[in-house]
Amino acid sequence: MAEQEAPSSPAPAVPATSSAPASSHGPRRRGAFAARRKVCRFCAEQIREVDWKQFQILRTFTTERGRILSGRVTGTCAKHQRQLARAVKRARFIALLPYVAN
Ligand SMILES: [Zn+2]
Repeated sequence: MAEQEAPSSPAPAVPATSSAPASSHGPRRRGAFAARRKVCRFCAEQIREVDWKQFQILRTFTTERGRILSGRVTGTCAKHQRQLARAVKRARFIALLPYVAN
């Protein structure tokens, strides 16, 4: 008759250090798109100075609408990003690149 399991406590045993369940923000973010390590293309190709005449390369660092992509997007290092921005602006001035897409 004493087969009944007496509830020892209202809540089931919980570890003392109860914390958020597996936080969505891990130390390293890795989602559907495997974040591959970006390396500055200019550094990789050992280009000392970004040449505005190579606007075909510059164009890959701009959006379809003519905006300069940020270094965080392209992985360009700060040094080359500055040069790139100047080169793009120069190329725009000579009408190699559009200020804005029609
Ligand atoms: Zn670089």
